[in-house]
Amino acid sequence: MTTDAMIDLRSDTVTRPSKEMRRAMAEADVGDDVFGDDPTVIRLQEKVARLMDKEAAVYLPSGSMANQTCIRAHCEPGDEIICHEDSHIYHYEGGAPAGLSGCSLRLLRGPRGRFTAEDVRTAVRPVNSHYPRSTLVLVENTHNRGGGSIWPIEQIAEVRAVAEEFGLKMHLDGARLMNACVATGRRPADYAQYFDTVSTCFSKGLGAPVGSAVAGSKETIERVHRFRKMFGGGMRQAGIIAAGAIYALDHNVERLAQDHVHAKRLAGAIADLPGLTVEADAVETNIVYFDVSEKLGTAQSLFDRLTEEGVLMLVVGAQRIRAVTHLDVDTAAIDRAATALARIVNRA
Ligand SMILES: *Cc1c(COP(=O)(O)O)cnc(C)c1O
Repeated sequence: MTTDAMIDLRSDTVTRPSKEMRRAMAEADVGDDVFGDDPTVIRLQEKVARLMDKEAAVYLPSGSMANQTCIRAHCEPGDEIICHEDSHIYHYEGGAPAGLSGCSLRLLRGPRGRFTAEDVRTAVRPVNSHYPRSTLVLVENTHNRGGGSIWPIEQIAEVRAVAEEFGLKMHLDGARLMNACVATGRRPADYAQYFDTVSTCFSKGLGAPVGSAVAGSKETIERVHRFRKMFGGGMRQAGIIAAGAIYALDHNVERLAQDHVHAKRLAGAIADLPGLTVEADAVETNIVYFDVSEKLGTAQSLFDRLTEEGVLMLVVGAQRIRAVTHLDVDTAAIDRAATALARIVNRA
């Protein structure tokens, strides 16, 4: 149970639609999107396709479904997906690559959720009936478990070159692609050009209540659309929620810069506290991971004391905590969270 007075830094998914966003949603023109009749969904899809400079896009209920329909569109059972060992698709999507597409994962290591073109080259299976078939490379940008880290675009281009050499497809899990764009000044299409499919999420830092979209070629998006229906993601008068996504793209992208400033501010405050360790330089966007020394107790015990102080974060390991900044926490709230942490640490 959380109250409005709490400072909720568990995730950027906790944002609630603003009054203006709700008005746009309430006033949206709608139709039956399973019949392809919803004008607002069509407008959103065209907007995303333009943003990514792809032929087509499709709106989906969640980021997980966006990734999984793409995986299903690119792969057959028995295929293998090359991705980082810290990937969202591996840890947080309920085992879906195996469950829904019959695929195994070839997990790569590397700092902050990134891997190199050479790592991919080494991981590609020879064509031989003994082996799974390597078919897809998946990149996550920004990288969630990597600490909101950003892939250098040159590194993506190098991975793409190797993927092409071996005839592999590329998917971008761009749940937080807009954070990467705002932090680097690059356009979504600058990243998207290296991928066959790109997913992006409206219900994280962009503040919409529901939904993700996938962009790609017309042919690929037709396949994704088919699997969206198969996986139970066909929605009827979805313009109501798509209007929130359009509003988010129009109003909430540039302001992500503020979330990034807040994350650095919080990390800076944490870095000054004894018993807490944060790589302040590693905060590139809106995610802060920090470690709690055993002298202070466990991450769970710190979390419990923080909750009493009205601050929510996420326990992600025995000694590790995650805080994520977003549009429902302002600078004063960040400072209150930092003060609460300081009080707890100084008491200990
Ligand atoms: C949140 C997230 C998703 C999608 O999550 P849903 O909860 O299914 O919307 C996908 N990839 C990354 C990197 C994420 O952080």
